[in-house]
This record gives sequence, C-alpha cells and structure tokens, in this order.
Amino acid sequence: MTATVLQFSPQASAEEERARALSLEMAEASAQEILKRTLTDEFVNEIALVSSFGAESAVLLHLAAQVSPDVPVIFLDTGKHFAQTLSYRRKLASQLGLTNVRDIHPNKEHLGAEDPAGDLFRRDANACCDLRKVRPLRGALDGFSAWVTGRKAFQGGERVHLPAVEWNGRHFKVNPIVRWSRDDLTSYIEEHALPAHPLVEQGFPSIGCWPCTRAVEEGEDVRAGRWSDNVKTECGIHTD
Ligand code: SF4
Repeated sequence: MTATVLQFSPQASAEEERARALSLEMAEASAQEILKRTLTDEFVNEIALVSSFGAESAVLLHLAAQVSPDVPVIFLDTGKHFAQTLSYRRKLASQLGLTNVRDIHPNKEHLGAEDPAGDLFRRDANACCDLRKVRPLRGALDGFSAWVTGRKAFQGGERVHLPAVEWNGRHFKVNPIVRWSRDDLTSYIEEHALPAHPLVEQGFPSIGCWPCTRAVEEGEDVRAGRWSDNVKTECGIHTD
C-alpha cells in the first residue's frame, strides 16, 4: 500500500517540487502516517477532506477521525442524492466522531438561472456536475491549500499512477489510500465494524446522485452504474 512518485520536469514549480518531495518522503508510508503528516503537520489548519459518503467512504473517514476528528470534511450536497446517502452521512459522521462536516450546496442563483426545473442532468450531465459539484467545491476549498481524496488506483484511468501528494495548479491533493486494494478496504471495514452505505447490499458498489446511478449486474465493473447511459465517467472535481 505504498504510493507512486511523480516525475517532474526541470521547470517544475515550487509547489510541484514540494508535492514531489512529500511523495518521496512518504513513498513507503501507511495511510495513517500520510494523514498524520499532512493533517497535523505539513498542512495543519490548511487542509480539508472531501467525501461523498458513498460506498467505501467510511474507510478514509475512519482513518482521518483517528488522526484529527475536527478536520473539515466537505460533503457536496448536490440536491440529487439518494435519501439513504443523506441519512448515512449523518449516521457515519456521528458514529466516527467527526465534528466538522460541512454540507456544501450549489449556489441558489446559479441553480435558478441554469437549472430552474432541476432536470439539467438529462440534457447536459457535465454542466449539471459543474453547477452542483465542481463550482461549489471550488468555493468550499477557498482558504485551504490542500485537500484529501479517497481515490484508489484500482479504480483505473489516471488514478493508476497517482502519488501520495500532487499539485493541481490550485491545491495540493493528498491520496492516502491510493495503493489500497479492494481487499484492503474490505478487511479494514470488517476489522473496525464500519457501517455500510445502505445501498451497497442492494447492488450499488459505487454511489453518486440518484439520476446518474444504477445498481450493477453480476460481473459488471464497479463503476458501470455511474452515468451508465452516457460516455461520462467522472463528475469533474478531479479534472484539473
Ligand atoms: S451526478 Fe448527475 S445529478 Fe449529480 S451533479 Fe452530476 S449530472 Fe447532476
């Protein structure tokens, strides 16, 4: 469960060099060590954790709660979540002792102007994610220099080569569990008796907004139920 180290060009910025040095330093570090180093030392009071309170979110939230239970946790309340996600967000935050979970909503004026009927997801999912996730997150991260993500390499795509710390031109992004396998996650959940999102047992291994998430069939990829009638595969918050 160690992290990949990015190679930067000789023209790398000071921030890129700082991310590279941190990634090198923590190449063999555990998720707990990465969180301790970043939450309580390198970026203390300048770092937030972003969580969807989805199928596997309990792992990163539990790890963070052990290190810093008052870390700001940003939850993007898009207005399109399953009711089960909203109740899980409340239950999990309480059970883990997280004291600083922030529900971030889309801008009301933007909603009224760009999605007055609430059906933008049908016509333009990218614009809907930009309105309900990307821009609200950008605002929520104002004042922070770094944020923690729950991305895993086994999810594929660009995530395969993520380092422990990266610089996206605006913020540092910390990826403590990027090298964890699905078995690592399952073991951790069992070991700590973490509550599952209620939709997991109904066939939802990856959970987003209700209009854009369906249960998956046996043998399908875990993210096959996300935007399954669309070429879209990511909401855009990690598109730097
Ligand atoms: S996941 Fe779907 S409903 Fe949610 S913000 Fe994106 S397009 Fe809109």
